[in-house]
Amino acid sequence: MAYKFWTYTPEQIKETYNWECYVFLIAVFVSLTNQFHKWSHTYFGLPKWITLLQDYHLILPRKHHRIHHVAPHETYFCITTGWLNYPLEKLGFWTTCEYYIEKLTGHKPREDDFKWAQKKD
Ligand SMILES: [Zn+2]
Repeated sequence: MAYKFWTYTPEQIKETYNWECYVFLIAVFVSLTNQFHKWSHTYFGLPKWITLLQDYHLILPRKHHRIHHVAPHETYFCITTGWLNYPLEKLGFWTTCEYYIEKLTGHKPREDDFKWAQKKD
């Protein structure tokens, strides 16, 4: 992206500018989401400002994310801030998604969760 901005003509940049910005922002937000999710699994040694952000629910709190990791692991899939977890749960969003995915693919959700842990010959 930096190379393009350096070497392209202003007209060429204008042609792809919106797409470049979109891809850049996706990369930033996906990275932040991964970091917030990692911190929600970290119970010791986090800087105070991060636990403060978690406590004020500005990023995914540890206690909130714990709900997702309790069997049967079928809810609270949002891992950036967690703000949408409760409304999506109340709307039955994930169960509806799973219903249609199962209808479409024939694969039952979480049926093969432990397949990866089985011993192979
Ligand atoms: Zn997690």
